[in-house]
Amino acid sequence: MNYAVPASAIPTVPVEGGGEFPVHRIYCVGRNYAEHAREMGSDPDREDPFFFLKPADTVVLTGATIPYPTMTKLVHHEIELVVCLGKGGRDVKVEDAESLIYGYAVGIDLTRRDLQNEAKKTGRPWDMGKGFDQSAPIGNIVPASKVKLNPKAEIWITVNGQTKQKSDISKLIWSVPETISYLSRFVELAPGDLIYSGTPEGVNSLVAGDVIVGHVDGVPDLHLTIAK
Ligand code: MN
Repeated sequence: MNYAVPASAIPTVPVEGGGEFPVHRIYCVGRNYAEHAREMGSDPDREDPFFFLKPADTVVLTGATIPYPTMTKLVHHEIELVVCLGKGGRDVKVEDAESLIYGYAVGIDLTRRDLQNEAKKTGRPWDMGKGFDQSAPIGNIVPASKVKLNPKAEIWITVNGQTKQKSDISKLIWSVPETISYLSRFVELAPGDLIYSGTPEGVNSLVAGDVIVGHVDGVPDLHLTIAK
């Protein structure tokens, strides 16, 4: 291909046991645990979950140290189970959704909460609050063929050894297959898509120097440090 400017590399995430997962799109579910919806001032019984995106090249791999994000005074962690698609589709039935899944990872939906709050207030897009550089830390991917996720798998995050969020994935309002099915009605899903499935309650701020561990039972831990 005779590109007119240098082409960007395809972002990838390591797979446990070898190989690299090429990232296509990053979808995030906005509201998928009842207690988190409540802490953000919403009524989980009345409002459907919704989706937003981060650019594919916002992934940050486990073990990384990243700078504190720019243009913000309030960065929040949101620990999430990430579903990694090996197949695509549109209008996928709930009962067929699991066949699209390649594997799972632990992710953090890093959020510039002050910018997101301002965007909510003014009716502006969330992109600069959610889709900024290095906003999608992700651990290594475990193939679904190698792990059977416990339906009550614990999900937690520690910051400097202190537990900040802790829940289990049975508390997802929309299950993973339901989320895939619903999302596939809005967009055609593709191999390489990541779905950050939403965060439980307890989102909190991060500061320079924080040492973070993210965990979902059965999935490789995510290690992240915010530079001093
Ligand atoms: Mn989130």
